Amino acid sequence: MQTRSGFFYPKNESGNQDPFRGKRKLGIGFGEPYRKRPRTAVEEHDSTTHDDFFDGLPDDLLLLILSNLSASASSPSDLFAVLMTCKRFKGLGVNPMVLAKASAKSLAIRAKNWCESAHRFLKLCADSGNLEACYTLGMIKFYCLGSRGNGASLMARAAMGSHAAALYALAVIQFNGSGGSKMDKDLRGGVALCARAAFLGHIDALRELGHCLQDGYGVRRKVTEGRRFLIQANLRELASAAKVPMVEASAMVTAGGGGCPLLSDFGWAVEEREVHGANRFMVEWFGAKGLDEGIRMCSHVGCGRPETRRHEFRRCSVCGAVNYCSRACQALHWKLAHKAECTPMERWNLAAAAAAPEAGGGGPMG
Ligand SMILES: [Zn+2]
Ligand SMILES: [Zn+2]
Repeated sequence: MQTRSGFFYPKNESGNQDPFRGKRKLGIGFGEPYRKRPRTAVEEHDSTTHDDFFDGLPDDLLLLILSNLSASASSPSDLFAVLMTCKRFKGLGVNPMVLAKASAKSLAIRAKNWCESAHRFLKLCADSGNLEACYTLGMIKFYCLGSRGNGASLMARAAMGSHAAALYALAVIQFNGSGGSKMDKDLRGGVALCARAAFLGHIDALRELGHCLQDGYGVRRKVTEGRRFLIQANLRELASAAKVPMVEASAMVTAGGGGCPLLSDFGWAVEEREVHGANRFMVEWFGAKGLDEGIRMCSHVGCGRPETRRHEFRRCSVCGAVNYCSRACQALHWKLAHKAECTPMERWNLAAAAAAPEAGGGGPMG
């Protein structure tokens, strides 16, 4: 039987590993209550040695271990569970070296768990130079907590560190004039931010830039160039969905062929991308709290951005039933769902009813 001191019993002269083995068996077997044996001096010494072993580990080593853990944690609870195991981990866990490395998944706090401590944790990470935390907290502050200036400056801090998602988020804010009036839109600024994010390989930014170039929105119209960016976006999306390098994704598209460059045209069911923690937070937050009257959400399910003023987002020009914060969201939602749902039927019905109200509602379809 293994005891508290495990295999550290001293050998007695007869060579018996456990001097209390016989007595213990006897005691239990005959129903005698087993009394806790006082620890011997040797065991006390062993126990002290064990405690000292952990205490004797240098902080640098523990910080390195905790940093690796925070960089690879797959959820916030993964990290917190370890930090709560002892006082020393709790203290070292808030070291900037550990917080700066916290992974995107360990920062992906759910809206239902939002509290002062969660806010403080993200802020500590952001203050430690964690760009992902700057971006996530920036989005939450800008869209959910209504702290526009603070949120935008956090996103700007991440963008200055070449955080692609933050650059793209700022581009969307510039395109829509979010947090200000319609006059605050800065299309050129939006395209410049988008181009920087696209250069870093951000798929939505590539798609947005492609549409801007195709339509001449905020930049001189260059259709071929725009189409090239759209192909790039699709290739990157396919490569990340199929978990293959870009070269292989390119070969897959060429094999799929027909000279048509867009994946949606091939009818390929590309797996829906994993939603970023900040977007999931916004979807859950506004799903639970609702929106002010007249304010709408972006209709792409993985976005979660709400309007910051009435009629900020563009509507689908065919059905008028959906709204998008960006061309990238529109293109994605079209591919995933809206292609099958979009119908100008309601508009036709309304037009027909307006043209002949006394005719008894004869629709365009007869
Ligand atoms: Zn959107
Ligand atoms: Zn539509």
